[in-house]
Amino acid sequence: MRLLIFFLCLIIPLQTAFAAVDIALRGREPVRIEDVYQQNGIPYIAIEDALDAVGLSGHWNSTEHIFRIKTRRGWAEISPGSTFLKIADEYYPLKEPPRFIDGRLRVTDNFILNQLAQLSGGSIYFRNLDPEAEIKPEQQGGGLEQFFAFLLNKKARQSGPLVRAVAIDPGHGGLDAGVIAESGYKEKELNLEVAEKLAKKLKMRLGVPIYLSRDGDYELSAEQRLQAASREDVDLWLLIHAQATFSPDISGISLFVRPDETVSSLQLDEKDQQAVNGSLALARELAAALREDGMPVQGIYPSSRLSLGRGNLPTVQIELGYLSHPQERELLQSAAYQNQLVQALYTGVRRFAQQNKEKTLGQTKN
Ligand SMILES: [Zn+2]
Repeated sequence: MRLLIFFLCLIIPLQTAFAAVDIALRGREPVRIEDVYQQNGIPYIAIEDALDAVGLSGHWNSTEHIFRIKTRRGWAEISPGSTFLKIADEYYPLKEPPRFIDGRLRVTDNFILNQLAQLSGGSIYFRNLDPEAEIKPEQQGGGLEQFFAFLLNKKARQSGPLVRAVAIDPGHGGLDAGVIAESGYKEKELNLEVAEKLAKKLKMRLGVPIYLSRDGDYELSAEQRLQAASREDVDLWLLIHAQATFSPDISGISLFVRPDETVSSLQLDEKDQQAVNGSLALARELAAALREDGMPVQGIYPSSRLSLGRGNLPTVQIELGYLSHPQERELLQSAAYQNQLVQALYTGVRRFAQQNKEKTLGQTKN
């Protein structure tokens, strides 16, 4: 239970989740690739980037869910979740299946060093620049997690308002203070202040119920934290947090969504997929609204630690900024900056709701 809260609240220094690699055909100048996602010590590189680096090309076929690589032997095919590489009518086993992470189909170093080397007709130089940047293996498929996934699994609807209610989770509380600034200001206080302001704004402007997982300074069990989000009418869930790091220069807002690898296209039908991608769509709207308002958004990242609820409830964890950055900490404590954050987050939620409504109307017309 405690472990779970810990997962949610863990500070995620970006360099541990994101690595960089160098790839080249032997004897050529290496190409640096920085859009690398590292999980359990295994780097995942977008297949297009890897092909580019070794002078090959390919394309994604979204209707067949197959990525085709052009080779001298003809087309080679890989697909998300599949442990085979297909060339002509032959199948070659892969150590790790390609996966969709952060919207791109990715392969591992093993694929690059073995299958891709064969396809390119030469040996490949590969260097992971952040080999130690390992993430502790997350707990997979535990009973608790399945329970959450069940709770948060929403039935796709064909009509009606798409945001009927919003759940907001102000991170931490009580004995669990979250990160603490040098000044003594605690993350749990910031999270609650912003969450309450956001709840008020959403309630007033959208006219829908808003459920907060806590409305005071007290500790919650994982079940209690999920109670708000698991209510029948909740259509999106926002988790409010702040970060801290040892480097005082790092600042800015980061948004986290559950990693896309849970969206195995082989297991989900189209309706489910739309719903799962809802988190990313919501994060994009939030990021756009924040940026339009001049707020420093670093990006949207998959978080393997956002392990609560493998369901399809659109969920975004918002890291409001760094309490370890003196200027940002001062801003975060000010009512003016908090209001600015809240206004932008509200705009993002409203647009997400609008976007969904248009999608539904479009579907019913067809
Ligand atoms: Zn936190």
